[in-house]
Amino acid sequence: MNEPFISAVPVLQQLEDAGYEAYFVGGSVRDYLLNKQISDVDIATSATPEEVKAIFPKTVDIGIEHGTVLVLFNLKSYEITTFRTEGDYQDFRRPKEVAFIRNLTDDLRRRDFTMNAMAMDRMGQVIDPFKGQQAIEQKIIQSVGHAKERFSEDALRMMRAVRFVSQLSFHIEEETMRALKELTYLLENIAIERKRAEFEKLLAGDNWHEAFRIIAETNICAYLPGLKNKKSEIEKFLSYDGKNLTTSEMWSLLLFCLKLSEKAAESFLRDWRLSVKEIKHILSILMYLERRLEKDWSVYDLFKAGSIVIESVEKLYLTIKRLNDWTEIERLLTTYQELPIKDSKDVAATGTDLMKWFNRNGGPWVKESLVQIEQAILNGIVKNDKQNIKEWLLACSQN
Ligand code: ATP
Ligand code: MG
Repeated sequence: MNEPFISAVPVLQQLEDAGYEAYFVGGSVRDYLLNKQISDVDIATSATPEEVKAIFPKTVDIGIEHGTVLVLFNLKSYEITTFRTEGDYQDFRRPKEVAFIRNLTDDLRRRDFTMNAMAMDRMGQVIDPFKGQQAIEQKIIQSVGHAKERFSEDALRMMRAVRFVSQLSFHIEEETMRALKELTYLLENIAIERKRAEFEKLLAGDNWHEAFRIIAETNICAYLPGLKNKKSEIEKFLSYDGKNLTTSEMWSLLLFCLKLSEKAAESFLRDWRLSVKEIKHILSILMYLERRLEKDWSVYDLFKAGSIVIESVEKLYLTIKRLNDWTEIERLLTTYQELPIKDSKDVAATGTDLMKWFNRNGGPWVKESLVQIEQAILNGIVKNDKQNIKEWLLACSQN
């Protein structure tokens, strides 16, 4: 065993000392067996949430109705979830109610895929009633039990299957795939936020081309905002290698391929329920990308875009042009770093200064003058110093 499991062993130990069972479960066990980096461990226990809270002095109720308590232990936090089965499923969504149980196997049975339905005890012994280790060896994604039933219970599992194709480069097992093809329409009922979480993980995976192909071929895309009947646009998207792109950059590349107007792009992102901040960021990338495809950066655009957008635009430019010269990005970022001002706030004169110097009331002229000043500073015409700016402006106004 390695970190972060080792630090969490005393947590399992304390639960066991109190007479309960406790195991590592889910993605962390899968990733451990795959020798992948593990961010955090999930713990499952036979103790009820109240019993967990009685054992550990510092806890936070983060999802107590689903049986999850956050335990703070040795400056780390652990999600501990009571073994449970899921009651009736309604509308192909999450279960209406959960029932706490004392049996590990039944908890593992409710999980989505065999590779995710394993547990590991504090000695490192793997408990694997559904042949998850075999699935990992064979690199297959297989539903626990009957795929059709499992996808009907919670249709999001179909998207999870595809995002694991992207993240792990596994294949979807035959029966699971057959069920997926048959039941994609059930995704209609799934909340966008849940779909987005899986979709973004898919976009970030190494094997996203194959995963996206499945999305297109199984018609999952008909149940994703803005991707219905976009066959040729999706083909174009798939033609790019998209290596080393961040999630925002992948959204931007997808939008570039969809060829939407700015307004339509905004509503596409809103339909996916991205945050206002992220939408603004992606729209900014897209705007400068369009410009960049027409001509080289102006100093003023570098200044307005800022280093994060510059880098994203350049990465996308190289991707779209199928070029590999990453040194150009460094060159542009150096140019940006050497700009005398990086932000409008850096200008040594303010709107108030301008009104005083010209003895005029505020109005659109103030903003226009400030832009003029920014450009003059950036082009080296005037130094970013209050006195210099004042003299330059007064001289300009006399001409
Ligand atoms: P990641 O590494 O992306 O976190 P994960 O497998 O840990 O992947 P989570 O969403 O964190 O995925 O879920 C933790 C575990 O809970 C899964 O491994 C699986 O056992 C179970 N699980 C999650 N979502 C579902 C679902 N929709 N249906 C059934 N089981 C699920
Ligand atoms: Mg997880």
